[in-house]
Amino acid sequence: MLIAGNWKMFKTGRETSGFCDALQEQVAELEGVEVVVCPPFTSLSEALGRGLTVFAQNVHWDPEGAYTGEVSPAMLRDLGVQGAIVGHSERRLYFGETDMSVARRARFALDEGLRVIACVGETVEQRESGDTELVLKVQVEAVAFAAGEHDDLVIAYEPVWAIGTGRTATPEQAQEAHAFVKAMLDVPVLYGGSVKPENAEELLSQPDVDGALVGGASLDVDMFSAICRTAASLS
Ligand code: PEP
Repeated sequence: MLIAGNWKMFKTGRETSGFCDALQEQVAELEGVEVVVCPPFTSLSEALGRGLTVFAQNVHWDPEGAYTGEVSPAMLRDLGVQGAIVGHSERRLYFGETDMSVARRARFALDEGLRVIACVGETVEQRESGDTELVLKVQVEAVAFAAGEHDDLVIAYEPVWAIGTGRTATPEQAQEAHAFVKAMLDVPVLYGGSVKPENAEELLSQPDVDGALVGGASLDVDMFSAICRTAASLS
């Protein structure tokens, strides 16, 4: 199982080193779970070399170029970063990320030897109007067309209405969406959306849930390590 912590725009470099050491102490003995932290770009180097897997929160497609504010796959590899999240709903919502740009980011990161967590998920309006599967189909097909069933590709199903809201998908809703995604693209699928120690077991025990992408709860060592322990106990 894979448990990834998306820190979003939290934790300076100084906060990162102590946090990662404390986290590693809690999870070092766990078996059957890979623990990934995804700090902001400025804290990546502090997270590296502490026994955890380190991913960035985004990555561009070109090796270099006139792309102010972006970071390339080669730059992340050069630092020692192992992978990147692409297409998080906050990137889609606030920074104009499209299915096309997400697919490009995924494809070129994989080509450059990075692992990728590509995020998909429907908004509350899309769920309520019965369009969840249509949205997932379009989003997953874009990634599938660009990247295929790559060994280093993981999808994160993150219903937008469950991110940072304290509202989680029910285990049945998660299972249904994960099975739908896997029928299109047979890669591991993480669940994301208000995962906490209290709901981790019911979500992670679903047959097609292969791990979690955790936001808020990944900022707290005790909460995040408790989720990792639950994952280890289920694998
Ligand atoms: C996320 O940011 O990917 C996420 C799932 O956030 P949260 O766990 O806070 O809902």
